[in-house]
Amino acid sequence: MTKHLILIVEDDPININALVAVLRDEYTLLIAKTQAKALEILSTNTVDVMLLDLNLPDGSGFDICKVVRGDREQYGSPAIIMMTGSHSADDELTSLELGASDFVTKPLNNQILKARMNIQIELLRKTRLLNKLARIDGLTEVANRRSFDETLVREWHRCKRAGQPLSLLLVDVDEFKKFNDLYGHAMGDRCLRSVAKVLVDVFKRASDLVARFGGEEFAVIMPNTTQRDAVALGNVALQKMVEQGIVHEQSSVHNVVTFSGGLITTFPVDVDLTAEEIIQQADRQLYAAKHEGRARIMPALTQAAALAV
Ligand code: GH3
Ligand code: MG
Ligand code: MG
Ligand code: MG
Repeated sequence: MTKHLILIVEDDPININALVAVLRDEYTLLIAKTQAKALEILSTNTVDVMLLDLNLPDGSGFDICKVVRGDREQYGSPAIIMMTGSHSADDELTSLELGASDFVTKPLNNQILKARMNIQIELLRKTRLLNKLARIDGLTEVANRRSFDETLVREWHRCKRAGQPLSLLLVDVDEFKKFNDLYGHAMGDRCLRSVAKVLVDVFKRASDLVARFGGEEFAVIMPNTTQRDAVALGNVALQKMVEQGIVHEQSSVHNVVTFSGGLITTFPVDVDLTAEEIIQQADRQLYAAKHEGRARIMPALTQAAALAV
């Protein structure tokens, strides 16, 4: 198991040495002697616990607490254990109110510090698990709608900043109502799991996100992916779906389960386009794919993107 990452923010070399001696075997340690260094480390590492001295040469632990808790995207969500030489109830209260998880006074008792640290790490583990479960669709085990919504907004911002296109594919199982009616809901559920698996197998870039959009609809977010690549992948997925050979006698399209896909590719020039509008445009393409006879991917570029290529 990888060791948890602990950031020690402390300017006194004697205290630093004492903490390092106690913690080095069990944890991976990073040390910052100033507020500036602490913030730099937090924005480039996923720190689990920050041991934070209240008095620093270029600021106070309170300041760091405020900054860190005010921007979780930049600094992550480390547990913060405040350390101070004074036993002041006011300082303790302020620390907790600013988002510290715990407060210890120096000189530190090694065993107590470790015990408190382990409580924070256990809490962190549970919170992370909960966050993960809250983002997964129970039936298909791909990302759920909440996760999709968050990811689309985030990735669209990121692609705009990076000057990259973003493709969004909406997938809808063809004539799935008839499938359910004929084979039953349990078979329908199994079919949805197969669709999810096909999508996950095909869209496997680390930055791709396959999500259950709702009912028998799925969505794939493809950051930094051109229309050409997205169409090619969409068609591979459709082909793989057919190869699953899930019999659908009532389908007017095929004798096995198929899906239709609406695809939209945006460009950074679409500065004002919202995530909502991207979804609407993909949905329009999906409607067109159904209208054209199903079991196909219908791509489009946004207007601005069309002018840009
Ligand atoms: P089209 O080709 O136009 O998409 O036809 P369709 O029958 O797939 O479209 P429609 O939206 O009318 O029906 C979707 C059906 O998907 C309705 C419902 O029976 C089924 N469905 C939605 N969610 C679930 C689910 O979680 N499990 C199962 N088994 N079926 C579901
Ligand atoms: Mg100090
Ligand atoms: Mg539907
Ligand atoms: Mg459908």
